[in-house]
Amino acid sequence: RTPQPTVTLGGAFAADLPELAVPWQAEEAPDPRLLVVNAPLAADLGLDPDWLRGEDGLRFLTGNRLPEQAMPVAQAYAGHQFGSYVPRLGDGRALLLGEVTDAEGQRRDLHLKGSGRTPFARGGDGRAAVGPMLREYLVSEAMHALRIPTTRSLAVVATGRTVLREDGPLPGAVLARVASSHLRVGSFQYARSLDEPAVLRRLADQAIRIHYPEAAQDEQPYLSLLRRVAAAQAGLVARWLQVGFVHGVMNTDNMTISGETIDYGPCAFMDVFDPRAVYSSIDRGGRYAYGQQPAIAQWNLARFAETLLPLLHDDQDQAVILATEELNGFTREFGTAYAAGMRCKLGLAAEAPDEAVGPLIDDLLALLQQDHIDYTQFFRRLGHAARGDLSPVQAVFTDRPAFDAWTERWLAFGPDPAAMDRENPVYIPRNHLVEEALSAAAGDDLDPLEQLLEAIRDPFRERPGLERYAEGPPEDFGRYTTFCGT
Ligand code: AMP
Ligand code: MG
Ligand code: MG
Repeated sequence: RTPQPTVTLGGAFAADLPELAVPWQAEEAPDPRLLVVNAPLAADLGLDPDWLRGEDGLRFLTGNRLPEQAMPVAQAYAGHQFGSYVPRLGDGRALLLGEVTDAEGQRRDLHLKGSGRTPFARGGDGRAAVGPMLREYLVSEAMHALRIPTTRSLAVVATGRTVLREDGPLPGAVLARVASSHLRVGSFQYARSLDEPAVLRRLADQAIRIHYPEAAQDEQPYLSLLRRVAAAQAGLVARWLQVGFVHGVMNTDNMTISGETIDYGPCAFMDVFDPRAVYSSIDRGGRYAYGQQPAIAQWNLARFAETLLPLLHDDQDQAVILATEELNGFTREFGTAYAAGMRCKLGLAAEAPDEAVGPLIDDLLALLQQDHIDYTQFFRRLGHAARGDLSPVQAVFTDRPAFDAWTERWLAFGPDPAAMDRENPVYIPRNHLVEEALSAAAGDDLDPLEQLLEAIRDPFRERPGLERYAEGPPEDFGRYTTFCGT
């Protein structure tokens, strides 16, 4: 039996960069069972969702039966984990199956996570548990619906294997995911460490070709690459902050060259606004806290810039000067992207002067933090306030005079409520809802997951019957903790 005859998996990454690709096979999934499949995404990739649901499709989605010409590889990369350099990380439990072309003619990577040990597995078992893979599926779909660049989830298939984790045995799963590429800052760190300029150049050329073809036309293509990656990351992190997203593990191997969000391990959406919000069990110092994310992105970009130095100028002192200029541009790029996004959230027209809007945003965030206000709910309700219905949003503040004074300043700009509703989501994958859906899934009930998906896939349109998906956590939910590498 052959897989769907139309599936072609290209091997451009491996062909171009054999130094960064280890040909490898997925381990056998003894009893594959579909948990969730992304039918619209499948169709977009030219894959028939009904075929994916069948036996051949499940073997395909676990990497066990691939088209003949396919050459799956584990990708090599390095990375700074919590600031410490690890020279060899790589896909320890993941495989790049190959490249597919979507309906718009764009190439996309098809990738598996949880597909077994590879030469990069170190002490790990190469596997993934059902819960965390469903979690990635949910959160990445929510991000996509929020118009935030992200890797996508195509399917989660239970493997029929058991994986051992700290709290005992768990059912295993493979996540099939799609990305415009899996090139990371860590890929460049690894290439640079090989001390072979030709490899580094080939990698940079591939990144330009895939993600920033315009850079090839620029006078200094590699400097332009740095500038464009920095701009993409500035825009991305601004979007994260605007929706209250905490990535949780912004190691350099988890930062893409494309500017897509990748690696949904310990991430979480905050409920109550707090720049210090941290969820990851291992992030004790708060390195990757909500409010730290712009600074960390810039730090990661500095590591990226270091890898590019040999390509920037024959004189390395000059190369450092050039790179530093681009890195300094990040602060401005981020500031502009963030301010523009917050203006949209507040429904303010472009005419509102920056000198007034800046303090308006800062003062609001201070009030939200001081009064422990639910971030997502606040902005949505503020849309009602722009229509004249002030009381629901006023009611949550204890410091009413301060909030009323702020409201008066804001209303003076004539905010546009319809524009606000297009920017401020009603539904996000709230931690308590995600946990509820995953607990039910663990007991073989996938309905809560499907219902939550329905809400978050159309996050800006308030719909009757979905009220509970718009609410904050119940009071007894307590402190939320997330985990890496499960
Ligand atoms: P992450 O924290 O998800 O970015 O992963 C960091 C590194 O650990 C990557 O090289 C992963 O491939 C590897 N890794 C994470 N979990 C496992 C596992 N269960 N088995 C093998 N490698 C793993
Ligand atoms: Mg990772
Ligand atoms: Mg991970």
